[in-house]
This record gives sequence, structure tokens and C-alpha cells, in this order.
Amino acid sequence: MKISQAAGNVCTVSTTQKQKKDNSGESKIIYLQGTDCVIKSQASLSAFTSYRVGGAAEWYAAPRNLEALQASLEYAKEHDLAVTTLGAGSNLLVSDRGLPGLVISTRHLRHSNFDPQTGQLTVAAGESIPSLAWEAAQLGWQGLEWAVGIPGTVGGAVVMNAGAHNSCIADMLVSAQVLLPNGTLESLTPAQIGYSYRTSSLQGSDRIVTQATFQLQPGADPAKVLAITKEHKQHRLTTQPYNFPSCGSVFRNPTPYAAGWLIEQTGLKGYQIGGAQVALLHANFIVNRGGAKASDIFCLINHIQQQVQEHWSILLEPEVKMIGEFQAVC
Ligand SMILES: Cc1cc2nc3c(=O)[nH]c(=O)nc-3n(C[C@H](O)[C@H](O)[C@H](O)COP(=O)(O)OP(=O)(O)OC[C@H]3O[C@@H](n4cnc5c(N)ncnc54)[C@H](O)[C@@H]3O)c2cc1C
Repeated sequence: MKISQAAGNVCTVSTTQKQKKDNSGESKIIYLQGTDCVIKSQASLSAFTSYRVGGAAEWYAAPRNLEALQASLEYAKEHDLAVTTLGAGSNLLVSDRGLPGLVISTRHLRHSNFDPQTGQLTVAAGESIPSLAWEAAQLGWQGLEWAVGIPGTVGGAVVMNAGAHNSCIADMLVSAQVLLPNGTLESLTPAQIGYSYRTSSLQGSDRIVTQATFQLQPGADPAKVLAITKEHKQHRLTTQPYNFPSCGSVFRNPTPYAAGWLIEQTGLKGYQIGGAQVALLHANFIVNRGGAKASDIFCLINHIQQQVQEHWSILLEPEVKMIGEFQAVC
């Protein structure tokens, strides 16, 4: 693969405009020849995370197809760059200092196919889980109603084993296609992925989920599936703070307790550090009330862990993935 460092005029008009915007720093755009993919330097990540915080990626690419994804990976390998995969950023806390290496966003990897013969839905990693839940409901396909309130991508949901309303991805996944660091593709079954509560062996691995196949149940009355989907969405809106940026539940539930209950009983609802607050509606959410820094959220997570441990002798384990450098002491 031939890679050239492009002047603005090599790229499309919109890319050139973006480059101008970023030119306050030392912004560069690399054009991966043979693909329509560019790699940008110093790309702010705050717009790409649901917390709306975080610094810049040293390098950032959002490939639109498998070839461009492979070319981005190859670029990282050639330049010895660490790779971080980004879905919708709805379970991530990115450091204010940003991330070294190459951040690859899957947001433009899009395709979906509902196969009525098998009842299987095959979707690219960047497809939005809530959009798929609505689409399935409109077709009268059951199986994704529970997922409507999870604002992530297919890839993120497969890696996190996302779940709600007593269902989760592991229950319905037939297979996931992953791209290995050497550029080859592999198909994995749920057993190979090794699922348990909100975890999988794909977390922290160097494999990138490119697409997934889910088993759904077609043939139901769309009105009924839509009604259940709406009910789940409504339930979420009334019990969880969707009005401020967040990452959803911050901590895993330490069976038999609910993390939110422990935090609330510890008297931390409403506790605030900088712009980060323990949500009043649901204590397992930390919300960005405006102007929060990643370090505020990080310090609030530490504070909650310390307080809950003091009161209950339980160390809450974060579900949110904290990436980049954070200060050890708050
Ligand atoms: C308001 C709100 C409500 C939420 N409710 C729920 C809920 O009910 N249940 C639940 O389980 N979660 C919930 N979440 C958390 C989050 O939406 C899920 O964890 C989701 O699955 C994350 O998907 P994502 O695409 O945003 O992944 P990201 O946050 O971008 O990434 C999460 C992890 O997966 C990795 N990753 C992402 N895509 C890929 C890929 N293609 N290949 C390899 N690795 C990848 C990342 O590197 C990172 O380690 C909620 C979040 C919010 C903001």
C-alpha cells in the first residue's frame, strides 16, 4: 500500500475545510492512497464520546469500508502506533490529555441485512443499536426491543456484552467478524468470545469487530413489537438521566447489590466535583452538568469507590472504560 502525506488539495473539499479548522495546532492529514480514507492528527475526541469530554487523538481515522479499515491498521503498524477502537464512545472516559497513537472510529462502517429466510440480522460494526431496534420493530422482528435505550454501536455492544431488561448481546449473537492485527478476518462464536456479565474476551484485545450476526424472530405484529420497544424507551427516559451527557451505568452491579442503590445509600446522590455530578435520578450515573473535564469524572469515580468501600466493604468495579492518562491522586 502506498501512503502519502497529503497537502489539503489532495483530499476532498470537506476534508480540506476541516484541516483548516484544525490548523490552530500542528494539524496534518494523511491520505491513504487507494482508499477514500484520511488520517487526521490532533482530532478532538470530545464530540465523539457521550460524556462530551476528552482531549485529542494523536491520529484519527473513520474508515468507510473494510479496505480502508485494513489500510488504517496497516498505517498504524508501519508507524508503530498503538490502536484504539472507538464505537459511539458511549462507554468511554477519554483523558483530557487525549490519546497517543491511532484512534479508529467505526462510525462510518455501515450496512445491514435482515434475512427473512433465517431470521438473522447481519450488521456492520458502526450501525447504531437503537436505530436497529426501531427498524426491527417496524418490520415485526422480535429480539431487539430491550436494546432501544443503549446508545452505542453494534461493535461496542458486542465487545461490552451490552444488556438491559434481562437480555444481552450474548443471548442473541450468532457470530462476530473480527479483524486481526495482521489484517485477516476471523469469525467468532459467542463461546469463542467468552461472554459474562458486561464483559467479553474482546475487551482490551487488539481485535476489531467489523460486523455481527444476530438471531431475531421475524413474523410478529409490528404494532406489538413497536409497543414493547416504546415501553422500554419510555421506562429508560423516566428512570435514567438522558438529559445530560453520561456513559450510562458507571459501575458494574456487584451481585447481589445494585451499584446505584449502594451509592445512593452512601449519601452520594447529587455529589459534585467540578462539572461532574452523581445523577439525582439514578446514582449509578455520573452526568456532565456542563463544562466537566474528564478529570472531574475520574475523581468522582474514585470518590464514589472510596466512600462505598468505607461504608460497605465493597470495591465497585467501573463498567466505563477509562482510556489515556489520568492523575493517580485527585
Ligand atoms: C445514556 C446511556 C445509557 C446506557 N445504557 C446502557 C444499558 O442499558 N446497558 C448497557 O450494557 N450499556 C449501556 N450504556 C453504555 C454503552 O452504551 C454500551 O456499553 C455500548 O455497548 C457501548 O457501545 P459504543 O459503540 O458506544 O462503544 P464505545 O464506548 O465506543 O467503546 C466501548 C469499548 O468497546 C471497544 N470497541 C468499540 N467498538 C469496537 C469494535 N468495533 N471492535 C473492537 N472494540 C470496540 C472500545 O475500544 C471500548 O473498549 C449506556 C450509555 C449511555 C450513555
